[in-house]
Amino acid sequence: MDINSTFLTYICFLIKYFLFFTSIDHNKQDGVVIKNFIVTHHHNLVAAIALIAFSVVVLCSFDSGQAMVQDSVNIKNEIIPDSLLEKSPTENNYRLSGSILPNEGFTNSLIAVDGISIGHAMEISNALRFHVDFRFLKAGEEFKVVYDSTKTNVIEFEFKPDVVTTHKLTKDPEGNYEYEKISLPVETRNRFLTGKIETTLNQALLDCDIPVSTSQEINGILECVVNFRTDARLGDQFTVFMEEYYFEGHKLSGGKIHYVSYSGRRSGFHEAFRFDDTDPLSAYNAHYTKDGKALIHSALRLPVDKIHVTSTFGQRRHPVTGKRSFHSGVDYRGHIGDPVYAVAKGKVIYSGYDKLNGNKVVIKHSDGTKTYYIHLDKSLVKKGQTVKARQQIAKLGRTGRVTGPHLHFGIKDNKGKWANPLLKRMIATPKLTGEKYARFLTQIEEIDQKVHEFKEKNKLFSITSL
Ligand SMILES: [Zn+2]
Repeated sequence: MDINSTFLTYICFLIKYFLFFTSIDHNKQDGVVIKNFIVTHHHNLVAAIALIAFSVVVLCSFDSGQAMVQDSVNIKNEIIPDSLLEKSPTENNYRLSGSILPNEGFTNSLIAVDGISIGHAMEISNALRFHVDFRFLKAGEEFKVVYDSTKTNVIEFEFKPDVVTTHKLTKDPEGNYEYEKISLPVETRNRFLTGKIETTLNQALLDCDIPVSTSQEINGILECVVNFRTDARLGDQFTVFMEEYYFEGHKLSGGKIHYVSYSGRRSGFHEAFRFDDTDPLSAYNAHYTKDGKALIHSALRLPVDKIHVTSTFGQRRHPVTGKRSFHSGVDYRGHIGDPVYAVAKGKVIYSGYDKLNGNKVVIKHSDGTKTYYIHLDKSLVKKGQTVKARQQIAKLGRTGRVTGPHLHFGIKDNKGKWANPLLKRMIATPKLTGEKYARFLTQIEEIDQKVHEFKEKNKLFSITSL
């Protein structure tokens, strides 16, 4: 491609995105802002002025702008070739399908499909990110974009993370997306496992056809109470009580572990129970000992009450510019005013405002780690103040350059390097207390009874099978 056509492509790209940006329409829905791509005539003048100004900047910086121009080559045309589109057999519309790519985010997986424009990809992911936790995307999960008869407007979008779940977006006459979750009935089956360790616990679990992720979770829980390296012995016994999900006879991935126990000559007897808070996204959903101690090693306290990650840590391709950028933390979705907590005790070294970050608090911890809390509605602490773990330090907000209310949370290690907060183990509390502990005790009783029934049956079975 010669430099002129590359430049022309770039100008076309600019026109497209200035039209897009000058026409962003903010609509409040569920307390979040959803962007909609509505191009109206009175925006054209603004777009033209912006385009001229931007073109001058680009022309002046054309030499140094080489990298940007390179990126623009990947930008796709808005007119979708007929060869790519699949015509609906019943309605007058067209569709494009694709799936989540390994190690790519949602938007990038959309953009990777021939025919899906960056603008459309962004419009869809902005509408969906408040309903789907992008942290749990898996490669191969399928999606479908439906275009109207003109082949230029998205009218429907479907994301199917598994055979029983469909997240559906439908455009209403005003151009706003309406969200709907379609769930097919799933059968829940309880599963009890018990056995003797012949090689390792991990192997024993895999032999029982437990998926790797579940076996890792079980190991993670038990590692808090059993030192496998020194105290595990062949012949040690384990028991697991979990839920598995089935659709039309087929087992779905995932499952909920209600109970795990481990008993050994050297390790002694240990058990863990899952606490189910009323909200499935509650930060308190985790495994605890009978007296309410959280089974997570040296954990930080979560900075929010609800775990809803809308953007993860690391390198990613910017949906508009196509340029690679680095996201230095995690974004937790929330509502304006939600409490924001210190993840560990420390000293406030910054509490202030700037245009990009909005209200921001930085805390330095005893090991030299610093934690960053950004886009806050209001800071409740002052520079120099010491804070306790899980002390409320601010209110969640949407200040600075953001599209909706969320907490951007970052961790810088003692060498000044950004660390991935999602790789740190985080809990709401090291110990359940009060009303939550009371509810936990009721749940323990129910679990205990089921485990007891199973053990009795198992005992009978082993006797009769002798
Ligand atoms: Zn962020």
